[in-house]
Amino acid sequence: CGIVGYIGTQPASGILLEGLRKLEYRGYDSAGIATLFEGKIDCVRAKGKLHNLQTKLVGHDYPGWIGIGHTRWATHGKPEEHNAHPHLDMSRRVAVVQNGIIENYRELREDLKQKGYEFVTETDTEVIPNLVANQLDQMQANCELEQYLSPFTEAVRRAVHQLEGSFAVALICTDYPDEIVIARQESAPLVIGFGQGEFFCASDIPAILPHTQAVVTLETGEMATLTPLGVSVYDFEGTRLRKHPYLLSGVS
Ligand code: GLU
Repeated sequence: CGIVGYIGTQPASGILLEGLRKLEYRGYDSAGIATLFEGKIDCVRAKGKLHNLQTKLVGHDYPGWIGIGHTRWATHGKPEEHNAHPHLDMSRRVAVVQNGIIENYRELREDLKQKGYEFVTETDTEVIPNLVANQLDQMQANCELEQYLSPFTEAVRRAVHQLEGSFAVALICTDYPDEIVIARQESAPLVIGFGQGEFFCASDIPAILPHTQAVVTLETGEMATLTPLGVSVYDFEGTRLRKHPYLLSGVS
């Protein structure tokens, strides 16, 4: 599938749609976007090609300068709208798009159900936002939130540690409206694009090329936090990594 994310100063929904258009070859089962505005996540999804999502968006305003998007190639759960990404946790605090497969999702889902979490899809992906929400709750209960520069990043890091499989993810959270957190494990590709006060992430370079030619490739075992002020890259142990963007030359 294809994933895309935007944070910056422009309305996110148009940029996400434009990015998804470039990634449509990666999945035709469904498409969706989630934007975050005034403490609330708006999520719009449609079965089938991207065109169906575009039609659904006509005449509606989905404000927000931060968002994530997805075109799906279904592996777990039928290609229906309720299984389309983005997926949210049950409190609608965390939204995620995922490319890949979470191999151990059944065990994780059972464990979360025991803790009172509810599931509304058949996908492997829905465990992720619930795991992150659960980690944030635990951190809050243990008074750990203030120990971290970005508690959201730390919650995603702890959640990713529980996931087995090959995946790329991008997440947003209503409690941290200035952050997109992304992570990559094994073969699912993920790149970060650097603009002027705006940052992008995507499964493939063409999705961000209209906006930037300065790029960092996320390797397996790496994660990053994108804010309107910059990008921080970490390994899964939380150690900060220095990665310098490279310029894409000869492409336009
Ligand atoms: N395994 C996930 C799903 O079926 C993601 C598939 C994809 O990469 O599009 O929803």
